Amino acid sequence: MSLIDGVISELAGIRNALGQDAGEPWRRPRRRGSTEAPASARVTGDPIFDSGRWEIADQRLWEEEKESARRAVEGEVLSSGRTGIEALAWYASFHDNQRDWGIYIPLSSLALLDELYLSKLPMDRDRRLRLAWSILLHHEQMHFAVDHACAWFELMLRAPIRREFMARFKAEPPLPAVTTSEAYLEIEETAANAHMLRQLGRAAPRQIVRTVESFVRNQPAGYQEGLNATGDTAFAEAVAETLRSYLALWAIEHRLDLGSREMNLLRLLPLGDGNALAECTVRVLDDLAEVGVVPGSVRLIQCITEIVESQNFERQLRCQDPAVRRDWSRRKEQIKIGLPSPPRFEKLKNWEPPTWSLRLRDGYRVHLQPPDPGTAAWRAVAIGNHKEMGHG
Ligand SMILES: [Zn+2]
Repeated sequence: MSLIDGVISELAGIRNALGQDAGEPWRRPRRRGSTEAPASARVTGDPIFDSGRWEIADQRLWEEEKESARRAVEGEVLSSGRTGIEALAWYASFHDNQRDWGIYIPLSSLALLDELYLSKLPMDRDRRLRLAWSILLHHEQMHFAVDHACAWFELMLRAPIRREFMARFKAEPPLPAVTTSEAYLEIEETAANAHMLRQLGRAAPRQIVRTVESFVRNQPAGYQEGLNATGDTAFAEAVAETLRSYLALWAIEHRLDLGSREMNLLRLLPLGDGNALAECTVRVLDDLAEVGVVPGSVRLIQCITEIVESQNFERQLRCQDPAVRRDWSRRKEQIKIGLPSPPRFEKLKNWEPPTWSLRLRDGYRVHLQPPDPGTAAWRAVAIGNHKEMGHG
């Protein structure tokens, strides 16, 4: 049983702590014309994207979707719906749905986020889609972390904190005049965007961080304040304020002091805990057709389960050192489970047909070509060392 399953079964003993939402979290709210739910797949680890077959099927629909996504993200919504990052991806709480809770990221959102806010970056589309994925994932992981912290307080106080807070919150939206968009807790969105920027800032070049910052600047109140909460102190305060918001009423009743600056509430969030974060299921929704993009234009690659070795490859393989041959056999098994991160597995720039390079030991590489549409097997087309493979 997973950690969260254990938490859920404990919460079941607290009256009103859990509910069963009728909603289907894999459906994007109010997308018109979508009758069938898009196919969803579970994503583990760090996926890689391939847009080698990018093609727009319906230019008018694509333009319309871009404009409506921009308006939703920037808070100019005309009909009811989610705004800010939640217009692109969302987290469904285990408090509301014990079976299908988790993070949902549609492929269409990656394409839209890229087109609207990332396309000027001097990177190829596959890398920008990967960036879009991490922007959405890091933001939503913060919502999971807050949910998780709330559950701990619920177990301590034996009280239905999260659902009661949400019920009160939804009953009195903070801006009564604005009834067109869903109410959201502004400080939690500040913390979520700050967390996302902090995560990107650790590894990404300055230019990427600047571009993502201007994406955040365009988002509505709460979200855009994430820009001012990326420092350690401001971030800890945004997280503490988020938890205090959930706990306010209960803190009075139970005489909890959540105000002490020496008590770092940030530590209650499992953000640095890879195992805890891995408990939160992430699902990708294959909904490209709904925005006028040809299905298969963006593919998320998590593993390679089937490989056909070309004759040329077999000939080259026979000439290799036994150690290299053994390494390839081992690697073939590993990539059935997951792919290594770039540059250990990466698409080669400007190769036709599109070709990926997988690093083996001692500078050796295997070149792989993705499956043709409708087929599943990758083709291993060449093996050799760095020089032989034309990597210069
Ligand atoms: Zn959010």
